[in-house]
Amino acid sequence: MKIGVLALQGAVAEHIQLLQQAGAEAVTVKRVEQLDELDGLVLPGGESTAIGKLMKKYGFDVALQEFSAQKKPLFGTCAGLIILAGEIEGQDWTHLGLMNMKVARNAFGRQRESFEIDLPIPGVAEDFRAVFIRAPLIREVGDNVNILARYKDEIVAARQGHLLCASFHPELTDDSRMHAYFLQMVKEYRSQVAVGTV
Ligand code: GLN
Repeated sequence: MKIGVLALQGAVAEHIQLLQQAGAEAVTVKRVEQLDELDGLVLPGGESTAIGKLMKKYGFDVALQEFSAQKKPLFGTCAGLIILAGEIEGQDWTHLGLMNMKVARNAFGRQRESFEIDLPIPGVAEDFRAVFIRAPLIREVGDNVNILARYKDEIVAARQGHLLCASFHPELTDDSRMHAYFLQMVKEYRSQVAVGTV
């Protein structure tokens, strides 16, 4: 299983490390031509406006629509979640716009710009250490989106078929269970390819 981490800006090395820990081959991705050889891709945290601009510049805006249309799994963390969102509060543009959800950027206010908390995430862990850094949250999701985690009633992780996202930074812990969950999604994708359903 070969997983890429989009390496235009943001927390890349940490994702590589945890993907390897969870048992995948992990590579940094800087050119669209690399996407063909991947089974899945992580969109890391960072600054979504900056990442979005670089994605356009290097053609990832178009190439990743195609990647997702093939049902290849994508996992967006923090800014990566914003990149996946179909609607961004207070902003009249989106980036990939793939997930049926509305998100708010920098949604936790000044005092709580950065904090850590243990969260239950069904199918992942009962006590996953979630690190929030100027994090977005998910205000609303469509019917086809499963909510995976909440913090104080706010949605902070979700899945829509082959798309996974988290407001927090699972790569900033040494716990690879969220990455292992993503690899399981990639395995499902590969078995669908094997039987010809995608
Ligand atoms: N605040 C950033 C944004 O809006 C996301 C922060 C992060 O990825 N840690 O893009």
